[in-house]
Amino acid sequence: MTFLDTMVVMKVVDSVKSDYKVQLSTNHYAYLSKGNFIADSSIHIRPYYLTTSRKVYGDDKYDYVNISLDERLPYSGIQRIDPSILVVDIFGVTSNTNWITQLSTVKEIKNVYYEQIEDDVFRVFIALRHQQHWGYSIHYEGKKLVIRIKRQPSSLSLRNLRVAVDPGHGGDNSGAGGGTSGIAEKNYTLLIAKELQKALLKEKAHVFMTREKDTSLSMIERIQMLRQEEPDFLVSIHLNSSDKDSIQGVSTYYRYIGFRPLSQFILKRMKELGLKEFGNVGGFNFSLNGPTDYPNALVEVAFLSNKEDEKRILDAKFRKQVAAKILAGIKDWLKSIK
Ligand SMILES: [Zn+2]
Repeated sequence: MTFLDTMVVMKVVDSVKSDYKVQLSTNHYAYLSKGNFIADSSIHIRPYYLTTSRKVYGDDKYDYVNISLDERLPYSGIQRIDPSILVVDIFGVTSNTNWITQLSTVKEIKNVYYEQIEDDVFRVFIALRHQQHWGYSIHYEGKKLVIRIKRQPSSLSLRNLRVAVDPGHGGDNSGAGGGTSGIAEKNYTLLIAKELQKALLKEKAHVFMTREKDTSLSMIERIQMLRQEEPDFLVSIHLNSSDKDSIQGVSTYYRYIGFRPLSQFILKRMKELGLKEFGNVGGFNFSLNGPTDYPNALVEVAFLSNKEDEKRILDAKFRKQVAAKILAGIKDWLKSIK
């Protein structure tokens, strides 16, 4: 459903293998990994919790919506497009009909309003000024829920943007293997990512690489590095593989609808290389498509398990072209943003 901050209070109602089934509100349940759970019998779950004060404001980097609550309760966020709205559900909460203080320091937030969609589900709508979603994060400060909205950068020229590039796999995680050559995916994702780094640096972009060598990096380590880096957007590079060696082509992936355009523009350019189209895949549950903090796209350049695709991947000239096409896709995307 979502990423959650720590120390969120939830009622366990059942145990299913490695997960607890938890109750979020009267009608909503979720599964929580037992490893992420601490039992605390001193907490008495109340029949209902109320909202208190709400505030909308901005600092020099972000816009914020603060909602004070009686307890750290579960929530989830969903992006809506056309028009762009961030919808945040807070479970187990009933509105206490509080007013909302709005400061003129906001830049990205157009309007904030709420609906009590169920007796104990409080839904907050955050309408955004720009069509492109630039990301958000939700956390608690004490019992105050803080929704942080990333603004659209004031300049969309690459020289003013922070671009993160993630070469897939690395170290003890080799990824897929070449069907005939036996090459390891991790080495070739790095080669392509380095070409992309070069191309982006030529545009004077600020580039952050999650790895520049054959490093072992867990997904959590990558996500934490990226969280610190606060990129404007992320591109992950992978090479695909299938049991069927006839399957070939390029594909791009996103998880959240608000981040889809970047993946579409990259795919459109990649097809110019004469690669077959494997598709633009949404709702993709890959770790690095998971963060909501910044737009992100994953590129599966071609299939290592297909002879024709593999031959291309082995060609240094092709890898340079791939970087040029990803860059062209990024530029098309930036140009399309109003
Ligand atoms: Zn991979």
